[in-house]
Amino acid sequence: TANTSANFIAKIIQDDLDNGRVTQVVTRFPPEPNGYLHVGHAKSVCLNFGLAEQFGGRCNLRFDDTNPEKESQEFINAIKDDITWLGFQWAGEIHYASDYFDQLHDWAVNLIESGNAYVCDLSADQAREYRGTLTEAGKPSPYRERTVEENLDLFARMRAGEFDEGAKVLRAKIDMASPNMNMRDPILYRIRKVHHHQTGDKWCIYPNYDFTHGQSDAIEGITHSVCTLEFEDHRPLYEWFLANLPVPAQPRQYEFGRLNLDYTVTSKRKLKALVDEKVVAGWDDPRMPTISGMRRRGFTPRSVRNFCDMIGVSRSDGMVDVAMLEHALRDDLNKNAPRAMCVINPLKVVIENLPEDHLEMVSADYHHELDLGSREMPFTREIFIDQDDFKEEYSKKFKKKFTPGKRIRLRHSYVIEATSYEKDEQGNVVLVRANLIEGTLGTNPADGDNPKGVVHWVSASHGIPAELRLYERLFTHASPDKTDGDFMEYVNTDSLKVVTAWVEPALANVGPENNFQFEREGYYVSDRYDHATDKPVFNLTIGLREDKSL
Ligand code: ATP
Ligand code: MG
Ligand code: MG
Repeated sequence: TANTSANFIAKIIQDDLDNGRVTQVVTRFPPEPNGYLHVGHAKSVCLNFGLAEQFGGRCNLRFDDTNPEKESQEFINAIKDDITWLGFQWAGEIHYASDYFDQLHDWAVNLIESGNAYVCDLSADQAREYRGTLTEAGKPSPYRERTVEENLDLFARMRAGEFDEGAKVLRAKIDMASPNMNMRDPILYRIRKVHHHQTGDKWCIYPNYDFTHGQSDAIEGITHSVCTLEFEDHRPLYEWFLANLPVPAQPRQYEFGRLNLDYTVTSKRKLKALVDEKVVAGWDDPRMPTISGMRRRGFTPRSVRNFCDMIGVSRSDGMVDVAMLEHALRDDLNKNAPRAMCVINPLKVVIENLPEDHLEMVSADYHHELDLGSREMPFTREIFIDQDDFKEEYSKKFKKKFTPGKRIRLRHSYVIEATSYEKDEQGNVVLVRANLIEGTLGTNPADGDNPKGVVHWVSASHGIPAELRLYERLFTHASPDKTDGDFMEYVNTDSLKVVTAWVEPALANVGPENNFQFEREGYYVSDRYDHATDKPVFNLTIGLREDKSL
C-alpha cells in the first residue's frame, strides 16, 4: 500500500529540495467555511499537513472565504476543531483569503491598467452564450474593448456600490478561443451586497476562487499548492495570474485524485441537505461521514490517519471500498481499546449457592496486552448474561453455551453450572438457576470438568442501565451519489436503533469519548455530548468482525 512517504507529490518535493527550487516546504489546507469537513477533506488534511511534517516544513490553514453568503463562523470553528482533533497544528496564525482583499483589489486594478482586465455588462445568460462550447470558440464581449480609463472608473464604481448585483463583473482579457474554457475571459470580481463574516460590510465586490487562490498562495509563500483533480483545468489560469501580476513568489499547483467512498456521499452540498432536511440530527451525527460525525461515532484520530495512509495518493479519482475505512477503524480499536462488559439482551442468572447479599469485587484488566489499568467489578448472586449464551438443551453445536448440567466461565470471574431454568408464557427463558464452583477464580475446576465457553456478564444488582445507540450505514446504495435518482432516495431509514443495555458500573464513570470493546458485542464509544454518570450513553462504533459492517 502507498503511503505519504512515497506518494508522487512527495517525490516532486524531494526533487525540488534536491535541485534547490525550494529550501523550505510550505503547504496549505484551504477549506471554504461553507460546511463541515468530511472524510474526503481528511485525505487532503493528512496530505498537506503530512507533507509539511515529512519535509520539516509548515502547513498553513487558510479559509477560502470568497462566498460570504454560504459561509459562517460556526463552520470556521468546526473546521479548526476537526484539524486539531486529527492531531495537526497549522503554522502560526490562521489565514483568511479575505485578509488579502485589499491586495487582490489592487492587483485587479493592475490588470486593468495593463490592459488585461475589463468591466463587462453582459448578463449571466448572455455571458454563457458568448462563452461558446468545447467545440465552438467563444465570441468577444461587446464590452471587451473598453478603455483603461473607462474600466478603472467602472470598477471603482462597482466597488463603491453604484451598481446592482449581476449588473457588471470584472473579467480577465485572455482568449475567447482557448480550448480551455477557464481561459475564456474568466470572471475576477462580482458584485455581492452581502455581509462578510470576517470583513463585515467593507466590500460589496468579491473576488472569485480563481483570482484568489494562486495569489493567496504567493502571498503566503506556499511552495506546493496541492488540490484535487477538478482544478487541473484551472492550472493555466492559476499560472496566468502569477505571470501577469507582481506577486512576491511563484507557487506551483499539483493535483491529486479526490477520495470517493462507496455507501457514502462526500459533497458538502449533499451533506448539508441531509442536515437541513433533518435526515440526521446534525453535521456531527454519528452516521455522517464528516470528521465530527466520525469522531462522535467513535473513530479515533489514528484510525482516520491510518486510513488516509492506506489509500495513498494518486493522480486518478477512484472509488474506495468503505471496508478499508472499517478495517482501519477496527484494527486500531482492536489494538488499543480497553475491554469492558455490557449485556444487551439480559437473561438473569441466580447463583443459588451464594448468599442474597453476596458482594465480591473481582479485579479485571482493561486490556490483555496493553497496560491500560484495571477496574473492580461487583460479582453478586444475581447476574445478567446474554440470552443467546443459554440453551435449554445441550448439543455439539452449542457446546460453548450454558445449558442445564453444563458449566460456563464468567469472564474475569468464576465458573458456574446451570441447574434449572424458568420460562414465561410465551416460552422464553426468563431465569436460570446455577451454582458457583468454588475455587475457580482464575483457575479451572479441581474436578477437571472444565467449561468450554467464556461469557460476558454484569451484576444484576450493581449493573447500570445504559442507552446504546446502534448505527448502521446511512445509505442502502453503494453509490448513492452516482445513481440516476436523487441520493435522498437511498437513505437507510432504519439506520438508528436505540436500546437499553446493562453495563458494568465502571462504565458509568468514564468521561465522554472513551472507546471500548464491549466484549463479544462490538466497539462502542461514550457519547461526546449525552453520556453522563447518571445516564450513560454509548454509540456503536463498529461490530467486531468484518461481516458486521458500519
Ligand atoms: P465539496 O465538494 O464537498 O464541497 P470542496 O472541494 O468544495 O468540497 P473545500 O472546502 O474547497 O471543499 O476543500 C478544501 C480542500 O479539501 C480542497 O483542497 C479540496 O480539494 C480538498 N477536498 C475536498 N473534497 C475532497 C475529497 N473528496 N478528497 C480529497 N480532497 C478533497
Ligand atoms: Mg472548494
Ligand atoms: Mg464545494
